[in-house]
Amino acid sequence: MLAEMGVRVWAPQPAAPAAAPEPRQPASSPVAAPAPVAAPAALRPPPPSRAPNPAPRPATPAPAPAVERSPRPSGIESMDWPALREAVANCQACGLCEKRKNTVFGTGSVQADWFIVGEAPGENEDLQGEPFVGAAGQLLDNMLRAVGRSRSGEGTQGVFISNVLKCRPPANRNPQPAEVAQCAPYLARQVALVQPTLIIAMGRFAVQSVLQTNEPIGKLRGQVHRYQGVPVIVTYHPAYLLRTPSDKAKAWADLCLAMETANTPLRR
Ligand code: URA
Repeated sequence: MLAEMGVRVWAPQPAAPAAAPEPRQPASSPVAAPAPVAAPAALRPPPPSRAPNPAPRPATPAPAPAVERSPRPSGIESMDWPALREAVANCQACGLCEKRKNTVFGTGSVQADWFIVGEAPGENEDLQGEPFVGAAGQLLDNMLRAVGRSRSGEGTQGVFISNVLKCRPPANRNPQPAEVAQCAPYLARQVALVQPTLIIAMGRFAVQSVLQTNEPIGKLRGQVHRYQGVPVIVTYHPAYLLRTPSDKAKAWADLCLAMETANTPLRR
């Protein structure tokens, strides 16, 4: 299971031979800088034009007209799946709609008893309209496989995967509070429709959004939290784990807590 997640069994490694230190460069060279040599005529910039009426500067291009946006539709809290999917696809409630290629609604079994909450689509997700399709998605799939689940699993044994934001923030910047606030009712409705028995919040923004807290993940892990009565397990985002593999063991402990919670009816 640990190998599935990419967690390695630690074995002491022989110490690498110390690399010979690089000779330090003096802060400033004691050798006098050579006198500047004039560039050959062909490389010299032309003398400034003395024309009385210099050519007019090209006009600054007009800014692209802002996409006219419309407010988020009302009645999200009572929408069924098709209506909710359409509302997300057509959403123009925040500026993220202007640059998106696709909205990323979520995927998985709508009867799943596990609901995974991620952060926001990245470039690949934006292109494909699917959550977690990049390297972080592969790790997520391995993590799920390690606990006997998969995004293609059917019925209650599957998972439903969705994000706090349904549109990609430009250049993968962090979600902004106003964007999270606009998108929150969609996630809330997805959770209400799936009716999971367990939620796993992955990463800071998922945790903040689901638990309405600014506490760091390190402080929230290892406990069972609640969202509308449903147990919530907090863990690291797969993209963070790719950058910090030493925390994969903690993520594995979080998944163990998730399994234990799911298998202990009193906890649920
Ligand atoms: N990271 C996320 O949080 N969600 C995705 O869909 C992809 C990467």
